[in-house]
Amino acid sequence: MKKTVLKEYARLIVRAGMNVQKGQDVVIRAGLDQPAFVELVVEQCYKAGAREVTVQFEHQPLSKLHNRYQSVEQLGTVKEWEKARQQYYCDTLPCTLFLTSADPDGLKGMDMAKVAQAQELRYPILKPYSEARENRQQWCIAAVPGAAWAKKVFPGLRTGAAMEKLWEAILSAARVEGDAVRAWADHDADLKARCAYLNSLGICQLHYTAANGTDLTVGMMAEGRFCGGRDTSLQGISFAPNIPTEECFISPKRGLAEGIVYATMPLSYQGSIIDKFWIRFREGRAVESGAEQGAELLKTMLSMDEGAAYLGECALVPQDSPIARGGLLFYNTLFDENASCHLAMGRGYADTIQGFQEKSLEECRALGLNDSMIHVDFMIGCDTMDIDAVRADGSVVPIFRQGNWAF
Ligand code: ZN
Ligand code: ZN
Repeated sequence: MKKTVLKEYARLIVRAGMNVQKGQDVVIRAGLDQPAFVELVVEQCYKAGAREVTVQFEHQPLSKLHNRYQSVEQLGTVKEWEKARQQYYCDTLPCTLFLTSADPDGLKGMDMAKVAQAQELRYPILKPYSEARENRQQWCIAAVPGAAWAKKVFPGLRTGAAMEKLWEAILSAARVEGDAVRAWADHDADLKARCAYLNSLGICQLHYTAANGTDLTVGMMAEGRFCGGRDTSLQGISFAPNIPTEECFISPKRGLAEGIVYATMPLSYQGSIIDKFWIRFREGRAVESGAEQGAELLKTMLSMDEGAAYLGECALVPQDSPIARGGLLFYNTLFDENASCHLAMGRGYADTIQGFQEKSLEECRALGLNDSMIHVDFMIGCDTMDIDAVRADGSVVPIFRQGNWAF
């Protein structure tokens, strides 16, 4: 890929994604796949006025080794220096960037029960730190190609050609053409207008139906609102949490989901694939599930904690979104969730609650916002999906017809 184009992509991530402020620190997590691109991003951060940019490189084979040779107690221990680092992040509120490039199957064979146990031990200790930072720091997830990921998406091509193809797909989804920062602003305005219309309706329930058997009703909080595109931190700094993004999303009310939903794309969860699966809900809770592939992993996921069996997000994405039209299965949620309507199991987003700035997280949860250590998106959209909005007065407004916006 041409360096000028990659430079523009790095600029988009730093300016429109994280929106790095003068004097702010930046923490980047990245795989080992694209060190030259990480350099470009770091340079753009400093050009934007960053005080210090820290890069934490990750490598899936190392994660597997740690998982195999360390005890659960060791994996689950949060060391004093980690706490100190978390506290430092609470004090300094750096922007964070996650540059995903991992192999969707890269953690295959890892002992997932061990991962879950370690996470259960770590989560309560780390939670107060992450809650202290919630909505107070800018964050962004974007992608760069990794060799194994590219081969998974383009199995018929040699590695080099597959990498180039994946770059093209990533950059096209992120609208990197000419002035990418400007294009992003226009796209953001579109999403904001959709959300404004949805929020004007006063939606109590969304009712999903599709030819595959999906028939699901999900209840909303009266204070809930659809969000899309750029987000704004409590300090008033705007940022784009996901590049790309095509969704208008809302966090539903815990306890109000009835019916069955069929996934329409495979889900890559903790480095393994769950495919051709369904979940049945009663009183908001996932009470039954099945899958042709990864049924056990799906059950593990849904029982990670109490909130893992409840919904945290309903997102609307038309089948004619650019990523959907590209027709490519990325095996990566950042992209696949923007090609399809999706739901998420687990944690809801407090910033989808009206006036969340004045509310504590406890108050948001009392309104019905779900809480969990997980937030896992899975795709449910298809060409036959209809979605109706039921309003407070009982009237029904079509939102989606045949997989696309009905308005
Ligand atoms: Zn989403
Ligand atoms: Zn999500």
